[in-house]
Amino acid sequence: MPELPEVETVRAALAPVLTGRTLEAVDILDTRLVRPFEPRAVADELEGERVAAVERRGKYLIFRFESGRSLLIHLRMTGSLRHVTNGSPAEDPHRRAVVRLDDGSDVTYRDVRRFGTWLLLEPGELEPYLERRLGAEPFSTAFTPKRFAARLANRRAPIKAALLDQRTLAGMGNIYVDEALWRARIHPLTPAGELAPDQIRRLRAAVRRALEAGIARQGASLRDYAKPDGARGRMQDEFKVYGRGGEPCDRCGTPIEKTRVAGRGTWYCPHCQPSP
Ligand SMILES: [Zn+2]
Repeated sequence: MPELPEVETVRAALAPVLTGRTLEAVDILDTRLVRPFEPRAVADELEGERVAAVERRGKYLIFRFESGRSLLIHLRMTGSLRHVTNGSPAEDPHRRAVVRLDDGSDVTYRDVRRFGTWLLLEPGELEPYLERRLGAEPFSTAFTPKRFAARLANRRAPIKAALLDQRTLAGMGNIYVDEALWRARIHPLTPAGELAPDQIRRLRAAVRRALEAGIARQGASLRDYAKPDGARGRMQDEFKVYGRGGEPCDRCGTPIEKTRVAGRGTWYCPHCQPSP
């Protein structure tokens, strides 16, 4: 499922394509994408909107319009966006929406599992909507060791579960949590509230390094994720632990182990990340 680096890669690719463009025609082909609203009604509202900026917050992609409205897109499990410049997009049974821009190009949305969502928000609605659901952005100045520690204090949940909770920190998912915990040398089952101050500082730095690695390699293409030009990301070739059960740890050579935490497959080095 796309996490912060994947969504940031999509944002960076779509920003120059969409900014300043008007949405000329919009087709929403799946009622689940915009429910409980009517697809044609949402499409009618979107037509004529001009894009002022393409932004990201956590795993949400945001099309900000000059009208002050915004379209909030969450790709969930298998959503992906494609920019098509050469005539009509090829047939695709998993296509859920098509946006024709005023330069004649198309942005298409495909989603095999159909958990993705598009939500059109009126002026002033975006920030409160996001603030209720998301903690700090990992690269913002608001993500200080002190505030991170305050978010984790008194929590008995494993640190892995706490990091998957988007209210702790926005944008982390199963892959980058495992990668960050390996970098910080912290076992995924360590109770979040029991981390020492130096572990929290290490983890904060490790979160940023893991996400930076993902952004630099334009995301991880395991199954459905692809960039808007259709190319794959390369982060999957650089994983330190994720999906590497039985392979040697890059740091110490010990075979990587797999367990389950918070119902999710979880990989770690039993030597570098000792049990709490
Ligand atoms: Zn190791």
